[in-house]
Formats: sequence, C-alpha cells, structure tokens
Amino acid sequence: MQDPRPRHIVLLSSPGMGHLIPLASFARHLARHHHFAITLITHPTDHSDSAGYRSFADSLSDEVNVVSLPSLPPDAFPDTMAEARVFLTIRANLPHLRSLLRSLESTAPLAALVVDPFCLDAFDVAAELRLPVYLFSTSSCMLLSFAFHLPALDASFQREYRDLPEPFRLPGCVPVQGKDLIEPIQDRGKETYKLFLNAMKRFPEAKGVLANSFEDLEPGAVKGLKEGEGRPPVYPVGPLVWTVPDEEHECLGWLDRQPRGSVVYVSFGSGGTLTLAQTRELALGLEISGQRFLWAAKSPHESEANAAYLSAKKNEKNPLDFLPEGFLERTKDLGFIVASWVPQVQVLGHASTGGFLTHCGWNSTLESIVNGVPLIAWPLYAEQKMNAIQLTEDVKLALRPKVTESGLVGREEIARVVRCLMEGEEGKRLRKRAKELSDAAGRALGPGGSSIRAMADVAREWMDASRP
Ligand code: UDP
Repeated sequence: MQDPRPRHIVLLSSPGMGHLIPLASFARHLARHHHFAITLITHPTDHSDSAGYRSFADSLSDEVNVVSLPSLPPDAFPDTMAEARVFLTIRANLPHLRSLLRSLESTAPLAALVVDPFCLDAFDVAAELRLPVYLFSTSSCMLLSFAFHLPALDASFQREYRDLPEPFRLPGCVPVQGKDLIEPIQDRGKETYKLFLNAMKRFPEAKGVLANSFEDLEPGAVKGLKEGEGRPPVYPVGPLVWTVPDEEHECLGWLDRQPRGSVVYVSFGSGGTLTLAQTRELALGLEISGQRFLWAAKSPHESEANAAYLSAKKNEKNPLDFLPEGFLERTKDLGFIVASWVPQVQVLGHASTGGFLTHCGWNSTLESIVNGVPLIAWPLYAEQKMNAIQLTEDVKLALRPKVTESGLVGREEIARVVRCLMEGEEGKRLRKRAKELSDAAGRALGPGGSSIRAMADVAREWMDASRP
C-alpha cells in the first residue's frame, strides 16, 4: 500500500541571501502547487539579524519547515576568499547535515535532496542515504553551461584564463574574454580555484538541474545545455523571485511621492561595496545627472581588492559618513539614501522606479526583468561580469558605463549613463525591451508556461520515484 504521508523534499542552501532567496522561492512554489512537505536547510547569513531577513524568514515558515545549520566563527577560515569560505562552511557542516537528514527520514520518507552549487559536497551524504540529489542553479544558464565546460578548459589550457588567445564561446551564448570569466577562477594557484573546479566536475552527478532562468530570456544557452552530451536533464524553472506583500519601509513612502518612472534605484546587492573614491564619484555622478535616485548605500571597503560579500569582518561604519561634503543637503529634493536592507522587490515593482543601476547579481537581474525595469550594468565580483556582458550584448536590457584605466567610473560618465537610461532614446528602447521580457517572464510562469511545465515535470519525477 502507498505511504499516505506527503512526499518530503529537502532543500539545502549555502550561506548568502543570493542563494537562500531563490531556493526559498522554489520551496514555496513546491509547497503551494505540488503539495510536497518541504524542509529548507539554511545557514545563518550576514543579514540574519536584519528586519528584512526576519520578515522573509517569518513569511516562509508558514509553508516550509526551515532549519538552520550552526554558524561557524567568523574567523574559521580567515585568509580565504568569500566563495571559498562558503564551500568550506558546507564541508564543515556535513556531519550536522547527515544527522539532520537521518532524523527527517525517520519521520517521513525523503524523495529528493536539492542543493545550490556551493553544496556539492552534500552529494556524498545523499549517496550514503540513497537519496536522489538535484542541483538548483541560482545563476544564469550561461553560467551553468560554463560550469559544465570548465573541467575541459582546465585540462586544455594551462595558463591563466585572462591569457586565453580568443574569447571563450559557450554554445548559444555571447563570447566572453578570459578576463571576464567568473572571478574565483582567475588565479589558478588559489584554493578557491580548486574548490570551484572540483565542484563543477561533480555537476554531471546530479540527477537533474533546476535553473532559475527561463527559455525566452536565454534561448541559446538553454538549447546548448539541453543538447550537451553526458549531462543531467536541465529544467529552467524561473524567474523565481521572493515577494513579501505589504512590507513597510520609509523608502516606499518616498517613492509614492515621486513621479511615475522617474527614479533610478542604485544597489550593489546584499554585499557589494565600492572603494571610497568610487563611492564619492558615484554620489557626484548621481547629483550631476539631475535625475531622482534611491540609493542603497554601503560603507566603502578599505582595500581595492574585494567586496564585503560574506566578509569575515562586518563593516559597522555608517555609509552616510563617506559621502562628499554637502551632498545630502544638495540632493535632498532628488535623492533618498537607505543605509540598511531595502525591500528590493517592492522597490523594483513600484511605479516610480524607472531604472536600476545594479551589480548584476542574478537575483537582482531577474527581479528587474519581472518588473520590466531596464538596467545600468556595473559588475563587481563573482560571475557579475559575465552577467553584465550577457545583459548588454545579448539580452540588450542594459547600458554599461566605461571604466577608466585606473579602474574608476568617473562622475561625468555616471551622469551620462543615468541620463541616457532615464531620458534618452536608448533608454526608451531599453524600456521597451524590459517590457517584452517582463511579459515573457509572466508567460513562463503563467498557465502552461515553459517554467511551470518544467516544475511539473520534476515534481512528477519525484512523485514517481517515491512510489513503492
Ligand atoms: N536584497 C534586498 N535588499 C537589499 C539587498 C539585497 O532585498 O538591500 C535582495 C535582492 O532583492 C536579491 C538578493 O538580495 O534578491 C541579492 O541577490 P543577488 O543575486 O542580486 O546579489 P548578491 O547579493 O548575491 O550579490
């Protein structure tokens, strides 16, 4: 006789809001539309104590069982890059994961384990428990395709990838110069490189790959992925973005008072920061542009080298202290600055928001697409340069400011792109494109849409696999 209890799916998210948000959104979809019992295993993030995170976690726990694995001390891996710390955190927590899965299994049969791309070590635990394991890709299909190609590239080219003689071509995608491939593989001598390579070598072990993207956004990359040999099936199930209805925040009240489509929203994601010189240049550029802006400002980082993403040291300084003298007073009628968590999905969905200056994190990109908001692409780290190239040259949804040889984007250049996006002819074209993509995203997630069908296919697979 069939076990009458609902099938249980377990999702595992690595630290970082950029991984947690799309997995949580997928978990909620599965609970609502496919009636699985869902456990989402999380790690504490830099934002776990923020109001934004709490409202997110509260609204999730109505439908999904949320369990957090222990946090590690901030200096557990002191000298490694942020991405390496994420991999090593997962590895260190495997014994906790094993016992958690065993205890979940004792209450209801588990149908599948779904993990994000930083949790590949969990494949071993899944194998011990004979649990089918699926990958949930939180980035573009172009990046997913790159992950499947990295092992061959590693074997065929021995020098640093910035020395590749030709741009790298993935099937169905725009060519990318070696220096613009993902940041963590740019130094092959580093531990981060080995961690990424080893993780990507294991992608084909997944029983299936769910991708937070949709066919009309990346038709070439999706086709290339589906045609690749020796790959698990790929299911584009996006764009999955997180929505919390009726959240209150003072910036939403400010947006209510601005004209329709007049505000450029400026944010570098949950952890992106600029140098002090660049922060000031950005402030002056926004001021010179004369356009309205809502800026989620962060304190600058001290070295030129990296961003605050999952930083071992928290930056407690007040971002407003780093702005140019008199800036707040001079821009008080045009700008609004937030120094804490912004309800970004609501901001992008607000009628007053007409453009988004973004670091091109994939969630930010999808949230903008869902809401039909065109972009200024300002990538900082991780895979953001690849996203920026794709958004500018392929998807044609973004403008890209020029960076000087010293690595700075000057105030006049910032003012130029902001004006161009908000009031120029090119801005109009991008707005039209943004509307087309927003409609396409709606269709993908509407009745019979490509992503809804893909989710139903996976759900059916999980139901069938767990039948006695
Ligand atoms: N986010 C937000 N408020 C903030 C900063 C970030 O709601 O003040 C959310 C944003 O909407 C997105 C996620 O955090 O869902 C950031 O993910 P993304 O992939 O864009 O960039 P990451 O932070 O991982 O670099």
